[in-house]
Amino acid sequence: MLFSELPSPCYVVDEDLVEKNLEVLKGVMDRTGARILLAQKAFSMYALYPLIGKYLCGATASGLYEARLCAEEMAGPAAEQGRVLENHIFSPAYRSEDFGEVLKYCDHIVFNSWRQLERFGPRAREAGKSIGLRINPECSTQEGHAIYDPCASGSRLGVTKASFEAGWEANFGARRFAQKEEGAQGQFESRRTLPLMPDGLHFHTLCEQDADALEKTLEAVEEKFGRYLPHMKWINFGGGHHITRRGYDIPRLERCIRRMQEKYGLTVYLEPGEAVALNAGYLIASVLETLHNGMDIAILDASAACHMPDVLEMPYRPPLQGSGLPGEKPYTCRLGGPTCLAGDIIGDYSFSAPLKEGDRLIFEDMAIYSMVKNNTFNGMPLPAIAVRRKDGECVVLKKFGYQDFKGRL
Ligand SMILES: *Cc1c(COP(=O)(O)O)cnc(C)c1O
Repeated sequence: MLFSELPSPCYVVDEDLVEKNLEVLKGVMDRTGARILLAQKAFSMYALYPLIGKYLCGATASGLYEARLCAEEMAGPAAEQGRVLENHIFSPAYRSEDFGEVLKYCDHIVFNSWRQLERFGPRAREAGKSIGLRINPECSTQEGHAIYDPCASGSRLGVTKASFEAGWEANFGARRFAQKEEGAQGQFESRRTLPLMPDGLHFHTLCEQDADALEKTLEAVEEKFGRYLPHMKWINFGGGHHITRRGYDIPRLERCIRRMQEKYGLTVYLEPGEAVALNAGYLIASVLETLHNGMDIAILDASAACHMPDVLEMPYRPPLQGSGLPGEKPYTCRLGGPTCLAGDIIGDYSFSAPLKEGDRLIFEDMAIYSMVKNNTFNGMPLPAIAVRRKDGECVVLKKFGYQDFKGRL
């Protein structure tokens, strides 16, 4: 069907725009040898996983279900065509009852503490997995976004320099190895509690940032953890790299990658989420009603709280096709959702004509952190999910109804 025939509300992801992003990421991989993974938590629309799997090296998961989704929809189908994709996972704390399944799907398993590595690492090593430890370089590079800053004080994400040193000393320090040589009893002891050296270090500290923030972070990583890097096989730079945003400093990113490769002989991973589907999707919405209270207000069939939660959480103002800033065009209107929440407001926009019932609005940059975060608060219906193919043909892939609301309660 045509774009104009799609239902409302509806998320539409543009295959061509995703592929353009993938080409940019592939360029970085081709020029540097870095390995780039999709962070599924930003974008899990698996209808596009075969396309993504053609360009990237695999995916990373924030938990068991995302890992399984990658196995089923990206790595599995690729393997049938003879291509091996990687399936990484990080979790602040694994559940022991889930860990067998984690081992089934994942090849790279990243732990958040020495204690987690001690508890689950031996099973992972036995199963032939590559093991990583997430570090906290304690280097904040963003202002005003404390909820997106894993380096904020009191952070639960990643091992700080002090904890890393203590764990390293306990496991691999001189005393430990001396003990090993104390004779049969000592050898037995040390074999039973054989220390596990991680294969790689992982950090994730950026959010929608450019390569200058990465460069600064890498300086902190080298200063605090540089002496351990020669023992590692890989380093993972996490996500938050806005590589596909216009103006992003790709040469600087590539210098950062090459430095880690050349100085320490490391394989470099990046796991962007946003950058894969940045500016590659829309949310179609319609005006249900208009009213006036000191200003014009329109109530839409799409909700900020339910269908674009990052608009409230981040917060940000989504671009809207054909609109201007308040006052820029003759008719300014506040756009809000149909829920009970007073703050269910998408934003104030201006138009060349007053909005009326039935008008269709197209919000942009709605592929990322939208479908993966939406909810049915107030019993709101979930938007349909559609794809715009390269030839312009639009196909509705998913429709949701009452059972999707009821089924999770
Ligand atoms: C969120 C996250 C990512 C992806 O971040 P983007 O901002 O979407 O690029 C990658 N790795 C980890 C560990 C994350 O938590």
